[in-house]
Amino acid sequence: MNIPDNKWFSADKLHFRRTKIVATIGPSSSSPEQLRQLIAAGMNVCRINFSHGDPAKHIKIVRRIRKVADSMQQIVTILGDLCGPKIRVGRFPDGRVTLKDGSKVLITAKNVLGSENLIPSQYGGIVGAVRIGDRVLLDDGNLELRVTRKLSAGAEAVVIHGGVLKDKKGMNLPDTPLKIPALTAKDKKDAIYCIKGGVDYLALSFVKSAGDVLALRRHLKANGSSIPIIAKIEKPEALDRIDEILAVVDGIMIARGDLGVEMPPQKVPLIQRRLIEKANQAYKPVIVATQMLESMIEHARPTRAEVTDVAMACLDDADAVMLSGETAVGKFPVEAVKMMDAVLREAEGYQFFTNGGLFKDRSGFKRDTMLNAIGVATAQMSRDLKVRCISVLTRSGRTARIVSADRPAAPVFGLTENRETARRMGLLWGVYPQLIKGAISHDAFVKKSEIVIKGLKLAKKGDYMILLSGLSDKANEITNSITVHQVG
Ligand code: PEP
Repeated sequence: MNIPDNKWFSADKLHFRRTKIVATIGPSSSSPEQLRQLIAAGMNVCRINFSHGDPAKHIKIVRRIRKVADSMQQIVTILGDLCGPKIRVGRFPDGRVTLKDGSKVLITAKNVLGSENLIPSQYGGIVGAVRIGDRVLLDDGNLELRVTRKLSAGAEAVVIHGGVLKDKKGMNLPDTPLKIPALTAKDKKDAIYCIKGGVDYLALSFVKSAGDVLALRRHLKANGSSIPIIAKIEKPEALDRIDEILAVVDGIMIARGDLGVEMPPQKVPLIQRRLIEKANQAYKPVIVATQMLESMIEHARPTRAEVTDVAMACLDDADAVMLSGETAVGKFPVEAVKMMDAVLREAEGYQFFTNGGLFKDRSGFKRDTMLNAIGVATAQMSRDLKVRCISVLTRSGRTARIVSADRPAAPVFGLTENRETARRMGLLWGVYPQLIKGAISHDAFVKKSEIVIKGLKLAKKGDYMILLSGLSDKANEITNSITVHQVG
């Protein structure tokens, strides 16, 4: 334990919070005023969940977010979350039904109104796919059925854990091998909306292999788009193939809601830690999602366990942490973002000022490219020279992403003339995008970086800054230069 005694109760705060906050936008957060308050509270990324609602309305909200962010001169990233082959139950009279422990139910793929003995499933292949003895988990695993017989009318199951089941709640089949590809016809249509609406990232649900990611990439390419893709890791199959997925994807989300239903919940914490480590080593951003401040859907204060969860995700090196129902449908969306911001700042203060987390063993990182070597050298120098900022001139955002993965001890300013690149960098740990007008020379880059850091009152004469850029005829194509600059 290396916390100095005087830091127990007041960790020093950093000017820039490094871990980013993703907030899901829904009825509680989609008005211009609510969006303004969320941005002011520290939301970096808006998640639009295509599992619910009308895609055309979602795109209206995308436009609204852009307008509000522009009016506040803020760069806000937008993540479109495609629902994938999420299996849901159908509808019930009055929107709900109560399943009793020990009772028998029939699971059907027919589009009928259900009852306490009839559970319609939206998955057409369910009756053929399930086997006797398989578990059928409903509503995030709160209710459990076990298949006892296969009949021509459907699959018969016994209720192991009953309760209230509401319309369209999720249905997970953790024991049943399913051959459903991650990219569904609905996802393809929603992706077109996202392309037209101009979202910055697309998340793909229930990814099982690199092939799922590549299928979405092909679909995007066929429609003239190169939106980066985030693979949601929520299936055991994805864990077995995480290296191949990380090799082709632009980032991952640890979707703990479904992951904790598809697998025993006690496995989730260590899977989370390992996935963060693997994503860091692959230089790809990683988002920790679901139930982070769940009780704030109803209450103004979170539980202590939730607060600890957010802090631990930060100390474990997540790039971003996510709010779902808390901001989408909760009673305290702005308070939830403020709370997350406060918890992260406290954890980062400890991390930074006590060397507790930033300087972990990164021996698993590949260092065989020039950019990766520049990344590790930058992080090392940032600590040794106590640099005030790292300024990166970037077109695609790649240099900022590589440098961020080594968790340097100074904020990274990603200077770019490309608005899309600026918004994409908004998800990365410790990276703060800055839009510049047109290509600039090295001297102008140094000058602009000094203006930024002085404008923020973060550097005084003699302080160090690190500048990364490409010195080549091809206008900043490859980052091959590190300049250590002393503020004048
Ligand atoms: C999850 O399952 O944790 C998740 C983020 O996915 P969704 O909210 O789309 O179910």
